[in-house]
Parts: sequence; structure tokens; C-alpha cells
Amino acid sequence: MDLVDAGSPEALVKRILKAEPNLPVPVPIQELCARLGIRRIEDIDIDEFEGGLVTDAKRSDGTILAKRVGEPRRRFTIAHELGHFLMAHHVPDQPGRFLCKNSDLLCVTAKEGDERQRREVEANRFATLILMPPHLLRGAMAAFREPDLQHVLVLARDFAVRKEAAARAYVQYHPERIAIVVAGNGRVQRCYRSLSFPTIIHAAGNPVPTGSLYHSSPNQPNIASDTVACSADLWIDVKRDLHAPDLYEQVYLQKNGFAMILLRLDAVPEESAEERRLNEGWRHRFHSGRR
Ligand SMILES: [Zn+2]
Repeated sequence: MDLVDAGSPEALVKRILKAEPNLPVPVPIQELCARLGIRRIEDIDIDEFEGGLVTDAKRSDGTILAKRVGEPRRRFTIAHELGHFLMAHHVPDQPGRFLCKNSDLLCVTAKEGDERQRREVEANRFATLILMPPHLLRGAMAAFREPDLQHVLVLARDFAVRKEAAARAYVQYHPERIAIVVAGNGRVQRCYRSLSFPTIIHAAGNPVPTGSLYHSSPNQPNIASDTVACSADLWIDVKRDLHAPDLYEQVYLQKNGFAMILLRLDAVPEESAEERRLNEGWRHRFHSGRR
């Protein structure tokens, strides 16, 4: 497979998918690694690292190191390291050896000028795309209607990825205005929004607002709650002079104190032709009356 100079993770994944048009779900990442030049996948036993890659500058072959953790997490690590291996412009900190921490594997944006971070973000984009190829993800999502955290769990199970990776993809591919907030120990950890969802007013580290469904019982662990209307200004900035949009929350608590909070914003209804006619008529009468 000619993957030299594919450049971006997106271009690289495109080439791989072209060469492997019949990939099953879950994507057999270890087999793919073997076909793409990875000799071995070994356990890594340095506590602070989640994964690593031993290779040379020419990428003649490589050994991936991955921590023995839950299968979805390990699969993501393997895919991330495969990304470093295939992107020739990724240069490790130490010659011949990449070592990646858990925080590297969660990195979605890089600070300007931070080359190391940029490389980690690219490896994560590669891992997400190869484990959840867009055409397969779209196919799976076609069966889903109203936004629901239950769908995120189905995606995570079927694609054998972490729930958070599935949540990020879900938000990105869902046609509605949604966001998923990942909370841990009562605080906002990370937020994923669809392009049309406004900025969430709580930065990472801030407490989950007290009015949120997250705090109210009875939310049972590992079962997605019902979807409930909430006050929009709990999560987004509502201009005082505008009618507040309808916002809905759904919560999925995990046993480890982590939770996903799905936020759904109703589409702003277009002013109907009838309403416009009435409004214009009213305006006209108003002006006429002043004359
Ligand atoms: Zn890395």
C-alpha cells in the first residue's frame, strides 16, 4: 500500500479505506497494523505511559507498545501509535521511540506552535477515523432518530471504542444541534459540540451547574436517564432581549463518578409565512395609526 506522503490523517485514512473497502465493524486494528508494517504489539509497563512506538526514521518496521487496559482503550492506543508510524513527519522526542501519556491520547486541540501537541492531535484524529470510518459510522447512525445517549453506548459497543470517543463522533455526525459534556466528580471535564451548538459557558474544571439533571436523583448508574427540559441559561449564554431557546438534558452516570450529559437545543423555528404576514400587517396598522 503506498502511503508515503499522505500528509494529513484524513488523507491517510482515505487511502487505507480505499485499499481496504470491506473493513468489518469493529475494525480489526491489530490485523491492519500487521498489514501496514507493524511487527509486534507488546505490553508497556511504564506506569506514566499509555502507549509507545519503537521504529526508525525510515519506518522500515515498528513495534507498538500498549498498556494492558480495557479493550476499547487499548485499541485506541494501538490506532494512535499506528498513526505516528504512518505519518513520516511525526518525529519522536527521543530518536526511534515515541512515548505517549493518557493526556496525549485525549488531546483534541493543539496550542499554536506546539509541534509535539500537534502531532498527538493528528495521531488522535487518525485513531478516531480508522476505528470509526466515516462511511461505516454514517451507516450505523442512519438508524438513529432523536438524539439519545443510548446511541452513543451502541456505537461504543459496536465499534469497540471508548464511550468518550463514540460521544465525540456522535456529536460530530448528528444532524441536530447537540453537545455532550463529560463530567467527573461534579465538575465539567470536557465538552463536545456540534458546529451549530453555541459555546458552553462552563469551562473545564468548573462545577456542573446546580440546576442540572446531573445532580438530581434518581439517576441510576449505567442507564441513560429520560430527556428533560431545562433552563437554557444553565449551559449557554442567552441574550436578555431574545426568546430563550428550548434546551433538553439527558444524563448517563457511570460507576466511576464520570458522567455524560447530552444537551439538545431545539431548532430555532423559522418565522412562518402566516406569522410574517400578520406581523407585517400589524406593523402597517401601527404606522398607519400614528399618521
Ligand atoms: Zn502519541
